Amino acid sequence: MTLTTPGWLLHGFRPWAGVLLAVVSAYGADRVQGWPQWQRSRAALDHRHVRDEFRIHYTLTGTHALPAADRLDADQDGVPDRIQHIALQLVTARRCYVETLGLRHPFESPRYKGRVKFIDVNVWSLGNKHGSAGDAIVNYHRPSDPPEGVEVVTIDLDAKLPPRNLSPSHELFHVFQNGYSQFKNAWYSEGTARWSEDVLRAGAGAAGSLPASANDLEGLFKLSYSASHFWQALARATDPVGRVRMAQELRDIQYPGSSKPVIEDDVFYGAKLLKTLLEELDREDNVVSQASNLDPLNWSETRQNAPENNRHLWQALLNVSRRFAADSPQLRRMVETLGHAPETPDVTGVKTNAPPAL
Ligand SMILES: [Zn+2]
Repeated sequence: MTLTTPGWLLHGFRPWAGVLLAVVSAYGADRVQGWPQWQRSRAALDHRHVRDEFRIHYTLTGTHALPAADRLDADQDGVPDRIQHIALQLVTARRCYVETLGLRHPFESPRYKGRVKFIDVNVWSLGNKHGSAGDAIVNYHRPSDPPEGVEVVTIDLDAKLPPRNLSPSHELFHVFQNGYSQFKNAWYSEGTARWSEDVLRAGAGAAGSLPASANDLEGLFKLSYSASHFWQALARATDPVGRVRMAQELRDIQYPGSSKPVIEDDVFYGAKLLKTLLEELDREDNVVSQASNLDPLNWSETRQNAPENNRHLWQALLNVSRRFAADSPQLRRMVETLGHAPETPDVTGVKTNAPPAL
């Protein structure tokens, strides 16, 4: 049995996985005992469904079990329909991000390229959270992995997610963000992730107003998900029409057993702005890394969420806004009023909602 064939990384199923499982369970118990809780509890999810780069892990027993109502398997292929729906949403969202919005797949980013081949999606009990995404490269050494394990990035999803809930695509967008930059301040990371949900959702999120004073800006930096109102305003200022072009074949994708498409319409404001912003942040975090002597591909969790990042995020946003300002009086006004990144960020208590460090 050779593990050097590159193809196995691209195609998750391996006929010898069952053999390996038996071997590991015979000698691996002590090793598993020594694992940290974050690893042990995720590696204990004993069912797996692999689709493209997504390995979806779940269980049918214990506290993390998929609810009984979500275990229907209408096509009787051995995988609960709910798990297949999650896989379908993830693949469809990835196609939208790459094919429609023109974003770089995280596995093509300097941070993950050549190392990460899978996104491990754990469907389990998260309490009152719907999901989270980890930016760290981890190796769970799951029982069905080859002896050296597999390097992955992580998405956690709650086992009780309602059908059609957009947490899978939202969390996947975080993985895309993490491929571009180290910044995770919530007004940027959660605000733009919520905006990204419009790719699949009917219509678009509500737009607020652009900041008109230093006070407004300070208030913006303290927001999390609700900063999406700012991003929606910015998106509309650059793209008043707000429609994207998608292949019909993509638009036609439906969840099995549902007459509604996964992508509900073609409304999305600011597609070009979003791509330009992520690319600018990719450059800006390199500037910060160099100035602050940080590993450009691996900042600490604290630094990723540090309030001092806000002025760099704002600087990147100004750079991007100037490119769109010629066609937008609102953007011109914002750039003229707040055209300098605040030198001394007076920002405390920034709400991060950061996922646990994995
Ligand atoms: Zn989020």
